[in-house]
Amino acid sequence: MNTRPLILNENVLQNSPSGDGGDVVIVTDIGGTKIKIGLVKHDKILCTASIDAESSNGLKEKLKVIESTVNDMLQQCSINKNEIKGVGISMPGIVDSKQKKVLSIDNKFNDVIDLNLSKWISDTWQTKLEIENDARCALIGEWQFGKGKGYDNVVLMTIGTGVGSSAVIEGKVLRGKHFQAGCLGGHFTINIYGKKCNCGNIGCVETEASTWNIQNIAKEHAAYYSSRLSQQNKIDFESIFRCANEGDMLAKELRNFCVDVWSAAAINLIHAYDPEVLVIGGGVMSSADFIIPFIQQKTDKYAWTPWGKVKIEAAENINTAALLGAAWLVYNN
Ligand SMILES: [Zn+2]
Repeated sequence: MNTRPLILNENVLQNSPSGDGGDVVIVTDIGGTKIKIGLVKHDKILCTASIDAESSNGLKEKLKVIESTVNDMLQQCSINKNEIKGVGISMPGIVDSKQKKVLSIDNKFNDVIDLNLSKWISDTWQTKLEIENDARCALIGEWQFGKGKGYDNVVLMTIGTGVGSSAVIEGKVLRGKHFQAGCLGGHFTINIYGKKCNCGNIGCVETEASTWNIQNIAKEHAAYYSSRLSQQNKIDFESIFRCANEGDMLAKELRNFCVDVWSAAAINLIHAYDPEVLVIGGGVMSSADFIIPFIQQKTDKYAWTPWGKVKIEAAENINTAALLGAAWLVYNN
């Protein structure tokens, strides 16, 4: 039974005859709810599929499913093993991209720290692995192929289940001595009286305004039971923005609070990394029309940038930036 419908990009496949050797990259973007898998040829995505992550069960038992999905893709796209240049993995958490290991991860796929992914890749497809933090992969995707193209100083903030960040400074991806530079923007302290975060800190951007905690914040609010939010199947940014548009007072209050938190995070990122452009990605960008002008106005007003204004942009490749970025790392390492 094939439960993993593959989406083939027919135009690209027709224009990309196989057989020119060692040019196709297998990519996977491992997220908390979905694992995206794809085949990439430079800046073109040949084929994608998505499987449920079930991240609390760990990654080890998903490797066989990823493997068979990739092999189905290779077959459907008529790509031989000798045409594979490498595998690029985009992964949440703090990732040692040199030793190809995940060093620390926050409440999902906890077993990945002990997995030898290089060996799995080498045994399965006889090729090399590049692995990097997911926000860094998404940033590289936007920097090379999206809204960061043409800039040497770009910061990305992704807003979804958690909040991620990453920075390119003077044309180089910022990693730092312990691989955590730039990627902990979701754990900037926003509220010194805030709640404890999964990371151990108090009042992080994530504890104040991300999907994993926003439902708790809504339910603890005195107005919850008289709000439309109490009738939603799921309290997330989709339902909050929708109910706010319908005039629900609590949803409006939460929406306005969240964009204030993200604006404060954006100002912190600007002060930390001195970007020319700040790209915002993640699921909330379906409400980009509201969020981007709001954050632009706040950063214009409050960020200390005497040289000019940082451009706030919605990510161009919302669903594919991390896949393209992971592939770029394979081509460029
Ligand atoms: Zn935190």
